[in-house]
Amino acid sequence: MIGLNVTIWNEFEAEQENEEVRKVYPQGIHSVIGEFLKEKINANTATATLHEPEHGLTEEVLNNTDVLIWWAHLSHEKVSDEVAERVQRHVLEGMGLIVLHSGHHSKPFKKLIGTTGNLRWREDDCHTRLWTIEPSHPIAKNVPMYVDIPQDEMYGERFDIPAPDSLVFISWFAGGEVMRSGCCFTRGAGKIFYFQPGHETYPVYKQPEIQTILCNAVNWAHSGRNAEAVSCIHAEDSPESLRYEKGE
Ligand code: ZN
Repeated sequence: MIGLNVTIWNEFEAEQENEEVRKVYPQGIHSVIGEFLKEKINANTATATLHEPEHGLTEEVLNNTDVLIWWAHLSHEKVSDEVAERVQRHVLEGMGLIVLHSGHHSKPFKKLIGTTGNLRWREDDCHTRLWTIEPSHPIAKNVPMYVDIPQDEMYGERFDIPAPDSLVFISWFAGGEVMRSGCCFTRGAGKIFYFQPGHETYPVYKQPEIQTILCNAVNWAHSGRNAEAVSCIHAEDSPESLRYEKGE
């Protein structure tokens, strides 16, 4: 099977500026995600980061991307509107998008969902339990009933998003909060998956169950690429009028 083309985008600032983060992800979060996608689903992975020209997301790169993965935390405003709109357009045309953790405030995600993406949050080494609530969904394939994440940042409701097309996971946090943590949306021809776990100071993306979920999400999100782009059609001749003209 030919592997999917996956581009993993990362701010790639925390890993360079913060010793605590560097210890967990010395080569960056994007490298870890790229490695397991290559190994587990034979994806053709490429990475792109904030400080590259055009943030590494040129028209050519996005044209060749089946699924874009987006990890970002503090520098959402440094992403140019032009690139954010380019990502939005490619999703509408069928590129898959997986938005991770603090990407809930990223420009492309907010443009696509149309709401603020606001939520509650707290950094307190919080034990998280991720519940699979839609076990028949392709993103839940081979994922247990629940996954314990020993430590992560708390993200809780209300999460200001439109009602997802499918809600695959919800999370419970030791502080008592809950969160819709695995949400599927369709925008245009594109499929979007928002996934909450993955604060940069914890090795969440090294956890096998989390890797399974992200592999499944890539396999689910790419299929919009098979859709034909929708243009605005002036339907002057209806199929029935054409049939009449032909004397059928
Ligand atoms: Zn975080």
